[in-house]
Amino acid sequence: MSAASFERILPEINEQNRHFWCGGEDGHLHMLRCDECQHFVHPPMPICTQCRSRALTVQTLSGTGRVASFTINYQPWFPGLEVPYCVAIVELDEQPGLRLTSNIVNCDLDAIQIGMPVRVHFEQQEDVWLPLFEPAQSVR
Ligand SMILES: [Zn+2]
Repeated sequence: MSAASFERILPEINEQNRHFWCGGEDGHLHMLRCDECQHFVHPPMPICTQCRSRALTVQTLSGTGRVASFTINYQPWFPGLEVPYCVAIVELDEQPGLRLTSNIVNCDLDAIQIGMPVRVHFEQQEDVWLPLFEPAQSVR
């Protein structure tokens, strides 16, 4: 029913992105935010994409957003990959244009719609907490 159980190719963790990939251990999404202009910066980088400030601090996000776009994959690209599953672009509530490409899980694929409210749902693999998303309200 979801893509949650196969072994994923995990991101390479470094000091710049550790808060994002490992921060889910506390159940929350973390991203860099500019101290000067309050802009969230993702993917992680040492400089604000809005005002070029280097004063960035890790902040906790609500973990809620909406499906901006999605596709259902039916192709088993490699052994062990469970299909079908949903790849979605989720726009986070904190900021227009602040988007993550992820999977929608814990949901009937037929129920997924653009604009659907979702919330983060972490899946741990090794020392990485992958931010997946599930419906904010139950649509099972
Ligand atoms: Zn800034």
